[in-house]
Amino acid sequence: MIYLVEHFYSIQGEGKYLGTPSLFFRFGGCNMKCEGFGCSETSAEGIEIVGCDTVYAVDKKHFGSTWLGIEKLDELISIYNSYTLPIKSDIVMTGGEPLIYANDELFVSFVEFLQGKGHRVTFETNGAINIDFEKFRVYQKCVFALSVKLKNSGEPKSKRINADAIQNIATYSQDAFFKFTVDKESIETQADSEINEIIKYAPSISVYCMPKGGSKNEVEYHCESVINYCKLKGYVYSDRLHIRIWDDNKGV
Ligand code: SF4
Repeated sequence: MIYLVEHFYSIQGEGKYLGTPSLFFRFGGCNMKCEGFGCSETSAEGIEIVGCDTVYAVDKKHFGSTWLGIEKLDELISIYNSYTLPIKSDIVMTGGEPLIYANDELFVSFVEFLQGKGHRVTFETNGAINIDFEKFRVYQKCVFALSVKLKNSGEPKSKRINADAIQNIATYSQDAFFKFTVDKESIETQADSEINEIIKYAPSISVYCMPKGGSKNEVEYHCESVINYCKLKGYVYSDRLHIRIWDDNKGV
């Protein structure tokens, strides 16, 4: 069973393809929790759950009742068909962590279907799940934004950094880039050494850094430090356009 949390047509708000019209499929579930990001969401039972800015797509126990369980490819195709998309629009597979479904036949078939329609398929992933590119060749034609988590996520290092997964994605995919979420405080302390340690696993791909934050105010607070850090290191600054425009609203 695959869980779909939401789908919407918008523009990519982060990373290398920022501004590109994109149909987003947000899948439910993640191999991490990232409570260190400190965003919170109230469940239907009135319980405040702390996690990342998409905690509602991570925590099945408290938000799973709103997720759509998908058992047939046709269900995903009919959602796709409900949109009128230009071919030049991207499809963004996000979450939660979409690659928890990477070995699922239904999921693989859906990626194949989307590519067959002429779309570029991009994944927003934490880069900690290894993909079998030989068995599932469909992923060789995909783009991966590797948002490998740093210490500020609150997750243990052993869970955050999977060298094999990073190397495989950087080597076998059509395109891949790092996209780190950093904040003012971590830039002043350990973020740089953490990033250095991660990018050595794929030194040839680009590095994007974006400010931490699930709200306009938070992005505003961290952005200048991130810009200065990018200037110093030669990394690419990525804003979080959707948060700047729509703040903490979902489905945009
Ligand atoms: S890996 Fe990404 S989706 Fe999963 S909990 Fe962390 S920030 Fe959220």
